[in-house]
Amino acid sequence: MNASGKPIIWKGSGHSPGFSSIGELFHSFNMIGGMQLCLLSTGGLVVALKKVVKGKIYKHLIQQRTEMGGLLIGTVYRIDLAPSQTYIVVIADSIPSLKSEATSVSLKLGPDVWLSARNLCKDDQRVVGWYHSHPGFGAFFSSTDKKTQRDFFNQPYNIGLVVDPFRKEERWFCGKESAIIQNLYYMKSRQGTKS
Ligand SMILES: [Zn+2]
Repeated sequence: MNASGKPIIWKGSGHSPGFSSIGELFHSFNMIGGMQLCLLSTGGLVVALKKVVKGKIYKHLIQQRTEMGGLLIGTVYRIDLAPSQTYIVVIADSIPSLKSEATSVSLKLGPDVWLSARNLCKDDQRVVGWYHSHPGFGAFFSSTDKKTQRDFFNQPYNIGLVVDPFRKEERWFCGKESAIIQNLYYMKSRQGTKS
């Protein structure tokens, strides 16, 4: 926390790749996986991840009955659906914040997690969003969560995941308005990795 009481969020001129193309999507996923994702994206933003990443997030968050969190890194594919566009966000990994200041009702991510995330991002990857826990009180976005999303994760492809690991509930949001994400796609173990 800095003097103004706001969480310190590291937002330097850091790693910010361009968007990946639909061609690269098909290269990473094979024809059937690429087509499934494109079809889903006609209904809005799609989040794709492996169950192992979700397992890692739950494993982190169930350790304590205080709010904990971290960052999500991945690749953003931009899909042009004239006249609009949408995104397919492939989450590659989750980075737990080990030094976040947590109580049962609030969470502040420290700068350490941003540095770790930056170091772990490969060429086409960036920080795509954040996740945090609501231990035992349900998965929803509080007004503080919506403000965090609006202040720091306000691009249309930015994701906010909230998990209650004790009730096994989760909700996914995106963009500056914290819109609910409808399209979750679970990847097979070999999908989404460039060969
Ligand atoms: Zn919250």
